Amino acid sequence: MTRELSHFINGEYVAGQSGRYSDVFDPNTGAVQARTPLASTDEVAATIAAAQGAFPAWSSMNPQRRARVMFRFKALLEEHMDELAELLSSEHGKVVADSRGDVQRGMEVIEFACGIPHLQKGEYTQGAGPGIDVYSMRQPLGVVAGITPFNFPAMIPMWMFGVAIACGNTFILKPSEKDPSVPLRLAELFLEAGAPAGVLNVVNGDKEAVDALLTHPDVKAISFVGSSDIAHYVYQTGAANGKRVQAMAGAKNHGIIMPDADMDQVVRDFLGSAFGSAGERCMALPVAVPVGKDTADEFIARMVPEIKKLKVGISTDTSAHYGPVVTAAHKTRVENYITMCEDEGGKLLVDGRGLKLQGYEGGFFVGPTLFDNVTADMRSYQDEIFGPVLQVVRADTLEEAAALPSNHQYGNGVAIFTRNGLAAREFAAKVQVGMVGINVPIPVPVAYHTFGGWKRSAFADTNQHGPEGVRFWTKIKTITQRWPDGDVGDQAFIIPTMG
Ligand code: NAD
Repeated sequence: MTRELSHFINGEYVAGQSGRYSDVFDPNTGAVQARTPLASTDEVAATIAAAQGAFPAWSSMNPQRRARVMFRFKALLEEHMDELAELLSSEHGKVVADSRGDVQRGMEVIEFACGIPHLQKGEYTQGAGPGIDVYSMRQPLGVVAGITPFNFPAMIPMWMFGVAIACGNTFILKPSEKDPSVPLRLAELFLEAGAPAGVLNVVNGDKEAVDALLTHPDVKAISFVGSSDIAHYVYQTGAANGKRVQAMAGAKNHGIIMPDADMDQVVRDFLGSAFGSAGERCMALPVAVPVGKDTADEFIARMVPEIKKLKVGISTDTSAHYGPVVTAAHKTRVENYITMCEDEGGKLLVDGRGLKLQGYEGGFFVGPTLFDNVTADMRSYQDEIFGPVLQVVRADTLEEAAALPSNHQYGNGVAIFTRNGLAAREFAAKVQVGMVGINVPIPVPVAYHTFGGWKRSAFADTNQHGPEGVRFWTKIKTITQRWPDGDVGDQAFIIPTMG
């Protein structure tokens, strides 16, 4: 019988009640390995009530004590790294080394959150007027929620709950129904780290659960990461219901290769960033823009043999470059985009369609794919493919190259490869994209900086983690105080000025 997963509510595993489920696959074999319960509106309401019950005590606990839970959680993540990485790979399909990276990058946000006593401090002005002081404090919002995608089931939940909970909020995580086991295990470890029951809850579900979170009056803020249409829906619906919302979304990142770039580094970087994790990263580089004919010809000539050497394997194969994509539906989607790009006039140099691994014929494998002569008017260029497909768009000048990411509907990440500091500096200042790499192919900012794209890559004013994260998960209160020395007289009845 298929294994049935649970929710994690108020400190314990709770079986699903709705009778609705979603399949979790083993992407290596294509077999169904478990099923995720999809929560009803009532089950979500019960989860919100549990988080609401935990809020008064957690939010009034002093910040050092909250930080100590984070320190212990970080130690448990290190202790359980192998177990978490293997569990993650078994549902997602990424190779175990990539899964370790997923847990590691999330753990770095927990490390950041350990500094919450300092990060959440307010400001103080002594003597803003005669006998008057002004100070501000950052207070938690209450019950808050995170809705996360399948592609980073450890890192992205920790981007959100790490900072939100450290700030004194209680949290409901609605992870992707495709790979929910790591998020559930994180909640269990968080309890073991000393968090009171109800502080971190995991409720599994689909649109019904998301809508229940978006409309419930006791949920004060929603952080979402996923595809753009759903992100936009979450942003609009959450805001219409009076919530604070940040919704990070799809991407199509460009890597610009200048004629003076170190081509050895460029080839290595594109192999990792276009094909690593089967291209299922929102900071992948699926578009290469070589500047000048010679640069393009050299890039293609060197990439083709290297791409053909890449090993696609099962997620536990330590010699594999990358593993299967997450579902059969996603494999079909990626292969359809390869067909579309070919039909639109892209020159197909390496074709990854129809890949079968011996002994794993049912697995969701897509081979690495390379196109030359892709142009900005093609739909396969405009859309996010989210697979191991690299499209080369040739440009004659840096200006022409830089216009591509700036004019694209997405603006998550971009990279430039060059030895020219001035060109890189100007590019970084002008490009209409939220995160820029200079000779860095995947410029995911470290935890104490902040993550977020522009345009249709993020519907939000505030980014994930770093100081921006603390701002998102708290509201500021400003206090103006006077302790009068004697009779204040008429001054009590006038609009106060500070003199
Ligand atoms: P998705 O949009 O399908 O799912 C994201 C979340 O939304 C899941 O929890 C899912 O259950 C929920 N959901 C699905 N359908 C819904 C609906 N109709 N209404 C409400 N909620 C719904 O995304 P995915 O396929 O899991 O993840 C891949 C996408 O996420 C890609 O577009 C990728 O670029 C994006 N992503 C963006 C970032 C970023 O920071 N910008 C990071 C990682 C992934």
